[in-house]
Amino acid sequence: MNLLIQGHSFRYEMERLTMMFFPMEKIHWFVDSAPAGEPYVLTRLEQQEDHIRITAGLVDGVHQTDSIVLKPEEGEQCELAMGRLLYRALCRDTGIVPPWGILTGIRPVKLLRDIYAGVESRAAAEEQFAADYLVTPGKVELARRTEGYERAILEQNKPMDFSLYVSIPFCPTRCHYCSFVSHGIQQARKLMPQYLQTLERELMDTAVIAKELGLRLTTVYFGGGTPTTLSSAELDLLMGWVEKYFDLSHLQEYTVEAGRPDTITREKLQVIRDHGAGRISVNPQTFNDQVLKNIGRGHTVQQFLESYQIAREIAFDCINIDLIAGLPGDDMESFCRSIDSAVALAPENITLHTLSIKRAAGLGSQDASSLQREYHMAVDMVDYGYRAFDKAGYHPYYLYRQRNTAGNLENTGFAKEGKDGRYNVYIMAETQTILAVGAGAVTKAVHPVSGEVFRVYNHKYPYEYILRYQELQKRKDQLYTFFEQ
Ligand code: SF4
Repeated sequence: MNLLIQGHSFRYEMERLTMMFFPMEKIHWFVDSAPAGEPYVLTRLEQQEDHIRITAGLVDGVHQTDSIVLKPEEGEQCELAMGRLLYRALCRDTGIVPPWGILTGIRPVKLLRDIYAGVESRAAAEEQFAADYLVTPGKVELARRTEGYERAILEQNKPMDFSLYVSIPFCPTRCHYCSFVSHGIQQARKLMPQYLQTLERELMDTAVIAKELGLRLTTVYFGGGTPTTLSSAELDLLMGWVEKYFDLSHLQEYTVEAGRPDTITREKLQVIRDHGAGRISVNPQTFNDQVLKNIGRGHTVQQFLESYQIAREIAFDCINIDLIAGLPGDDMESFCRSIDSAVALAPENITLHTLSIKRAAGLGSQDASSLQREYHMAVDMVDYGYRAFDKAGYHPYYLYRQRNTAGNLENTGFAKEGKDGRYNVYIMAETQTILAVGAGAVTKAVHPVSGEVFRVYNHKYPYEYILRYQELQKRKDQLYTFFEQ
């Protein structure tokens, strides 16, 4: 789809907004004129002496654009006003109604929290959230509930608390829909001794930084990839280093993503539990074997059930299971069965994701009309899931959005009372320092006084990470300056 930008600097937001309505199309933007004879989305701002005129909408010979006029002193509201005008026009002309309104960011709950902070009453803040961004009542309610649970966790956070993230960017095979930088273990196996060696070095150096800055470790999270791609001996070694180098006496939560059931053995889970991790993720994604095949997941429902059973027998405090709405080949009936099966197992956490529709398309199904069908079906799926979780006593405790998810929806973590995953909340809220180690990991330091966030990006690929560790070490030294300023 072509996008014409005239007289304003809101290209990024208008482009994001247009993408929500034309998710399968690449957006080409133009400043002076759009290519002749092709449909385009118009966004125009005309600044006159006594008024500002904003015009937006689809120009395709069938539909009409809309205009509004603002006073010159309302200039600061132009971006939001243009967003709302364009959103309303495209909802009307495409029949798609994105439930988060004009919000395109990944942290809507954080935005609501910021509004709460600047407005007298919570009700007024929620009204403003709905009115400014055209968020539907259902999503305002979801954001409101989630914010309450998030806040309860965030209030316990002390300024010098931090989390440690350990990245294991390896998986047994690559799922077709994967959006992470993850490497098949077969090829990466030969790198493993050096990878672990570098990881030990980084853990050691990071522990020194934490100690010298006076930081206090409260949560540890092993993610990836799939950490249980490592052998039990490797896990034993790695988790042993965490114990050796860090002070774990204030630890409130220790998570290891076991993720893929085809990596799980009783021995590995026992090692993880013996090293003090109480929270684990075992992810079925769906309870439909054919759908698992469609997405190249490399395990069966039965394998998931066996892994889950082992995790239960080993007595983890909290088991999370991930499900995905909008998977290729899944239908409403099969999805509802997945939700019901997940609830019947009574895990402490269930995270419901919505698949990026671009990724769904990459999985080979899809023409535009079948994507549209799946787009609407995802809305019904998520709705079914939320109602089932609510009925079974789960509450939403963290939420984030990805671009181009089916139905422009969100990924939401649900928990039984008292079982909210803290690390997930910290990473979304960006109010706690996260020191991250390993390839692809991102350290986010939060200044204890100003709240400013400083990021250090580790090298993405394991071989780069191993080869260029010295460079990374220098980058991490900037943390001292950041905290001392
Ligand atoms: S298990 Fe997760 S990280 Fe690994 S390939 Fe599949 S989606 Fe990607």
